[in-house]
Amino acid sequence: MKAAVLYEAGKPLVVEEVELDEPQANEILIKLEAVGVCHTDLSFMKGDMPCPVPVVVGHEGCGIVEKVGPGVTSVQPGDKVITMVSFSCGKCHFCAIGQPTRCVENINIMMMAELPFFAGKRIHKGDQGISQLFGLGSFAEYCVVHERAAVKIRSDAPSDVVCLMGCGITTGIGSVINTAKVKPGDSVVVYGVGGVGLAAVMGAKLAGAGNIIAVARSQNKLDMAKELGADHVINPNDVDDVPTKVKELTGGIGADSAIEAAGVASVMQQAFGSIHNGGICVIAGMAPMIDTLTFMPFEFLLGKTIKGTVQGDIVGSVDVPKLVDMYMAGKLPIDKLITKTFSLDQVNEAFEAMENKQVLRSVIKI
Ligand SMILES: [Zn+2]
Ligand SMILES: [Zn+2]
Repeated sequence: MKAAVLYEAGKPLVVEEVELDEPQANEILIKLEAVGVCHTDLSFMKGDMPCPVPVVVGHEGCGIVEKVGPGVTSVQPGDKVITMVSFSCGKCHFCAIGQPTRCVENINIMMMAELPFFAGKRIHKGDQGISQLFGLGSFAEYCVVHERAAVKIRSDAPSDVVCLMGCGITTGIGSVINTAKVKPGDSVVVYGVGGVGLAAVMGAKLAGAGNIIAVARSQNKLDMAKELGADHVINPNDVDDVPTKVKELTGGIGADSAIEAAGVASVMQQAFGSIHNGGICVIAGMAPMIDTLTFMPFEFLLGKTIKGTVQGDIVGSVDVPKLVDMYMAGKLPIDKLITKTFSLDQVNEAFEAMENKQVLRSVIKI
């Protein structure tokens, strides 16, 4: 099959023929139809986040199950599935208490680009084994993944739109609804309105937020944030201090919730500075591994919370089919985010377009 392989951080992906094993116990073979181009892939491709190479990147995949390995019970050939950026084993402490995105397997899978439970390499180029980012590696014609790394969805959903549910959309919506627990009437400020941030704006709208503020430097992103429900937009180029402006727009006290979706430490600090006493700041963006944050402990005496999230704390098998239904019913216009599609051969162009801010979200059609 053809796949996009990263051989060295900082270098372009190599789209080439590789060999793929048959699915083994509890694994499934997916014929991919579409894959979202997510900034998280870029973090690994640039070396901001470490992972072994060579590795097939890509994680927002949607396609059809072609074959299942022994013991697979959750899907069968012909089912349409979306691959999930966060894995859940279903057995550990966190899975047992209903927090599957915090599954103990996830750090291993992310840092080692291994299949769950270190099951070995399924992709090869001659004698060399090739890893799969997030145990997925979906910039490829096919992928073999653990059955619990994919969620079955309705067959009539368009793969080239709903693939975004595998990471960006669920992270943004979940950060607002599950992590920040935004209530009707609340004020929410979203820092960084790329794929995750625009989904957070949609999540705030769904939650009934009374005042939604979007912060970004690019006008086309702010325009889309407005179209999706933002009441106010702030371009940091136009104001002296963004948290002060947020306070102005929220009755002088600050927002109930802030969502950081830019993945930049200094922006995380601004997001925390934008909430009122007792407010919550959710870090949904992925900053480079070596970055640090500094806070005055005094802020915590004021009852402020800062909280991390993985994929918006969703329960994939429950939440993803619901969100797909909402898209199909016209209640969640995630297709508006997709401003360009590319072929697998154009995968490097797709990332250049992201870095040059020429696209909101883009999708690779396989
Ligand atoms: Zn688990
Ligand atoms: Zn992602």
